[in-house]
Order: sequence, then structure tokens, then C-alpha cells
Amino acid sequence: ERERLARLRHTPSVTLDGQKVELLANIEQPSDAAAAVRAGAVGVGLFRSEFLFMGREGKLPGEEEQFEAYKAAVDGMQGLPVTIRTIDVGADKPLDKGFKETSLNPALGLRAIRWSLAEPAMFRTQLRAILRAAAFGQVHLLFPMVSHQHEAHSIVAQVKLAQAELDARGAAYGAVQLGAMIEIPAAAIMVRSLLKHFDFVSIGTNDLIQYTLAIDRADEAVAHLYDPLHPAVLGLVAQVIEAANDMGKQVCVCGEMAGDTSMTRLLLGLGLRSFSMHPAQILSVKQEVLRADTRKLQPWAQAVLQADVPADVLAAAS
Ligand code: PEP
Ligand code: MG
Repeated sequence: ERERLARLRHTPSVTLDGQKVELLANIEQPSDAAAAVRAGAVGVGLFRSEFLFMGREGKLPGEEEQFEAYKAAVDGMQGLPVTIRTIDVGADKPLDKGFKETSLNPALGLRAIRWSLAEPAMFRTQLRAILRAAAFGQVHLLFPMVSHQHEAHSIVAQVKLAQAELDARGAAYGAVQLGAMIEIPAAAIMVRSLLKHFDFVSIGTNDLIQYTLAIDRADEAVAHLYDPLHPAVLGLVAQVIEAANDMGKQVCVCGEMAGDTSMTRLLLGLGLRSFSMHPAQILSVKQEVLRADTRKLQPWAQAVLQADVPADVLAAAS
């Protein structure tokens, strides 16, 4: 089976009815780019930059160190696009002891983009490092846990300010596309207004499930209730894909759902054409794509969406 899958590495990811599907990799370190290329990824859909910031004994990486790391990821992808997500700390991804977690409830507290916007100097240090790396390849900038219009405004303003700072210094930087993670239900519901400010969106199903169902993704006691096939979760995912496709903007799923082969046909049926996942999942998902006919999957996916228990409809089809 492993060998058979390996032969798919250079096979273009296209459905039976000719729909091109982009299969991207999630990485946590620049060195993971090698595995992504080996797995046949056509780019990085999610570089979780927070791993550069964690386990640092109280001192965060500066602009040069960050620039080197982002450039290494860009170089490692050999010209393929790299989506770099700005620091996403809090709750399941704590910074080190040197930084105290002050939130009453870390999952609902000052985390991810909220933390970045509260620490604008730190945020722009990261933005400058990413913009400079963008001079060496195709880079997209992705912001975690966006949920307010005013956050979209502030993000765009901070990016412009970071560019102005680089201009003042005469430093080279590249053009980037801006994207928002859709991983808070409020963001999914108002995605059309957010999309006015962003070039693309990426659905973070791990957090979208957590926040939609009020299930702590790290709590074993409620793990049995963490359900990617809950109709409310599927409804939000479907709504975001449809809105983005409608508005002619790119939409990707970069949560675990994207690498789950039991979900591939459903997501294709809902109109998704870009998946980002752990490199080890890419060839298995590609195999599902190659066997899929989206013309048949589309009406079936709508039936799954309408079901009281979508899991039953899914099970009946496999
Ligand atoms: C997600 O929430 O689905 C996601 C991709 O981000 P992370 O798992 O890093 O929170
Ligand atoms: Mg997330």
C-alpha cells in the first residue's frame, strides 16, 4: 500500500471530472519543508510560526532570527507558495514560563491575533521578518482567530506600517496576499464581510469545532463529544466555502479535517478545492481525490448537510 501510494507523488491531483485540487502541507519548522516536497505537496498551506516562539525561556526570537527561519521555509519549498501564519499562542499553545498567562480562560482570552494586536511592536517585528522573506519566493500571510471587522482594519494597518518601516530602512521585501483563519463561529457567520478585507481564508476546523460545540479540544473528558460531523460544524464549513467561492476568493481547510480521508469526498462535494494537512496524509487524500467525481458528490454533500445525523449518511456511502 505504501509503495502504491508513493507512486502517486507526481500524479496531478485532479478528480475524475477534471477538477484540480490543491493539496498543501502543514509545517511547524522550516526543516519540515523537505518532507512536504517529498510528499508531493504543491505548497505550504499553514506554517505554524508559533513553534519558533515556544520553549524560549523568556526571550522571543528577533527579526533576524525570524527572517532566517521564514526564508529557510521559503527556500525549502523551492519556489512553491508558503502560507505563514502569524503567532498563534494561548490555551493549547502556551508561551514559556517567562510569559505569564493572565487570561481567566486561556481559550477565550488574549490569544492569537488578539495577543499580536495588543503587542504591536512584537507583531510588526514578525510582519517585517515575513515580508522580507517574501522577497525570496511566493508568501501568503495568514492571521489566526480573526473575529471582528476592526481586527481586519488593524491588521491591514499594521502590515502597511511594517512595510513603511522597511521602506524607511531601505530593506527589500516582497508582495504578499493577506488571509484570515476562519476558526471562530462568529467569523464563519460573517465571512462575507471579512472577505472584503482579505485575499483568502483558511478554515481552522480544530478550533472551529472547539468553539462551535464548546468542547475543549485538549480535554479528554469531553473528547467523545468533539464531532467534526456535527451538523452545526458542517453548516459553518459549508457556508464559508460557498461564500468564498461566490466572491471569487481562495478558500482552504487547514485543520485536521483536511487530512481525514473519510472527509475528502464531503469537502469536495461542498466545493472545496484546496486542502492543507500533515505531509504524511497527502498521498492518501490524493487517492480519494483521484477517485472522486464532484458532479455526483455535490448533491450528495447537500443531503449530508441536511441530515439530522450526517455521520449516518456518510457511513451509508462508504
Ligand atoms: C485549526 O484550528 O484548525 C488550525 C489549523 O490551527 P491550530 O490547530 O494550529 O490551532
Ligand atoms: Mg486554530
